[in-house]
Amino acid sequence: MTKLANYLEGRWQEGAGAGAPVLDPVTGETLATVSADGLDMAAAYAFAREKGGTALRALSYAQRAELLSAIVKVLQANRDKYFEISLKNSGTVQNDSGVDVDGGIYTLSYYAKLGSKLTAKALMADGTPDALARDNAFATQHILVPAHGLALFINAFNFPSWGLWEKAAAALLSGVPVVAKPASATAWLTHEMVKDVIDANILPTGALNIVCGRPAGMLDALDPLDLVSFTGSADTAASLRDHPKIKHEGVRFNAETDSVNSAILGPDADDDAMGLLVREVVRELTIKSGQKCTAIRRIMVPESRYAAVAAALADKLKGITVGDPRNENIRMGSLVSTSQRDAILQGISQLEACSDILFDGRKDIAIQADHANHAIVPPVVFGTTTPDTHPLVHQMEVFGPVATLMPYRDTDHALALARRGMGSLVASVYSNDSTFLAQAAVALAESHGRVHLINNDVAKVQTGHGNVMPQSNHGGPGRAGGGEELGGLRALRFYHRLAAVQGAPGVLEAIVN
Ligand code: NAP
Repeated sequence: MTKLANYLEGRWQEGAGAGAPVLDPVTGETLATVSADGLDMAAAYAFAREKGGTALRALSYAQRAELLSAIVKVLQANRDKYFEISLKNSGTVQNDSGVDVDGGIYTLSYYAKLGSKLTAKALMADGTPDALARDNAFATQHILVPAHGLALFINAFNFPSWGLWEKAAAALLSGVPVVAKPASATAWLTHEMVKDVIDANILPTGALNIVCGRPAGMLDALDPLDLVSFTGSADTAASLRDHPKIKHEGVRFNAETDSVNSAILGPDADDDAMGLLVREVVRELTIKSGQKCTAIRRIMVPESRYAAVAAALADKLKGITVGDPRNENIRMGSLVSTSQRDAILQGISQLEACSDILFDGRKDIAIQADHANHAIVPPVVFGTTTPDTHPLVHQMEVFGPVATLMPYRDTDHALALARRGMGSLVASVYSNDSTFLAQAAVALAESHGRVHLINNDVAKVQTGHGNVMPQSNHGGPGRAGGGEELGGLRALRFYHRLAAVQGAPGVLEAIVN
């Protein structure tokens, strides 16, 4: 049995004890174990900051961008292996594994390209100088400089590849060393990728580190000038926010958490727009078995379309093949673990108690798998005709193939229902009325990190409700964690410090020009 070693202080270190098992969610086979017991995190962090950070900062942005390109080549060369690991450890079909594996590689390539043209001075100036004295005798200029701390990534189980690389791309390009802590359940893929990159000897020693499992003192060993980027549940984010290093010492903390995202069919609701919405909802329910933070959880449609959308969804979903991702005809694979399965089934029961069932894959789809204790759950669509008073649908994220359809009276009602998510990662809107799309975008932008507008013109080229593109901001206010990631060069700001420099205009000019 392979115990996944931890790469810290420039060497592979095994955690003590037997470790926790990393399982195949379909067969139940133990694939590896993880342990972070007995590791010296303070020494590991000091090494990352001093060796990794110093060496990275000695390079230019363009040189660091070349390192990203070299990582891309290594990952591309090993792509088949990563798909194999994903199939076994995440229980995903090829297409779904691609969202994670290729999504990570694409994001790295994007930042490699952005960084290749970047100069330190171009990024440094934040705005233009403002006068602080008469005749501009004294002025202020805001500047951005790379952080000298390390970036700790505490990641969720559903994106072991993309979850690492979407963060590491921006951190490494900024000159900030990385300590990755993947979710234990799917740590194998992250570990294998990091190992391949370390073996290829691309990065300076200490620039990329990984710890698998949950080491004691993971947060205690941080310095106030370190950075933590967390992805996972709102409950875990809340407990991390309470840690004295974050609460009292000011460690910068970014959180990407749960979200009850919406898809809205416009009031014009022509058949084309309805078809686009139905296709996207089915895709979001089935890709990665609905285990995407951006997946559609709530579907809002005009009252007159409620029955038609319910019927169209049921019609499409009953044709989805669900089962062991090893079978070639399977379109939707497994959840990540039997504990997730149990959590999802419990969420389904809770929704069932206060909603109508419009499609129940548990009855209408035969799961194709030989192993009895698998983690496969087919899609379920709920409906509620009383969305204003529904006790759960706007609060509860069931992190699986589950969504709820609801009717709205008018535009204001639809937008108000979307806002009931209290801050979401994404809302998508389907309409061929450009005026409505624009109005919805501005209204939804207040409570959503991303607004995805779909009409016939973009039907064939759009990137998908749930796909996180590095060009666009990823994150959402309020309940979604309040974080911001990606969005082009914006992503680099988290890994930089902002300072207002005050001085003579000539001196300020010399700094940024
Ligand atoms: P989770 O249980 O909160 O775990 C996330 C990470 O936090 C894991 O690495 C976990 O480690 C670690 N962790 C848990 N408790 C901790 C503690 N007390 N101290 C330090 N680390 C701790 O979330 P998950 O079940 O992996 O992921 C599912 C959730 O993530 C969903 O709610 C989903 O919406 C959200 N998500 C959000 C985004 C986004 O971008 N907004 C993306 C993906 C997923 P172990 O695995 O070792 O326990």
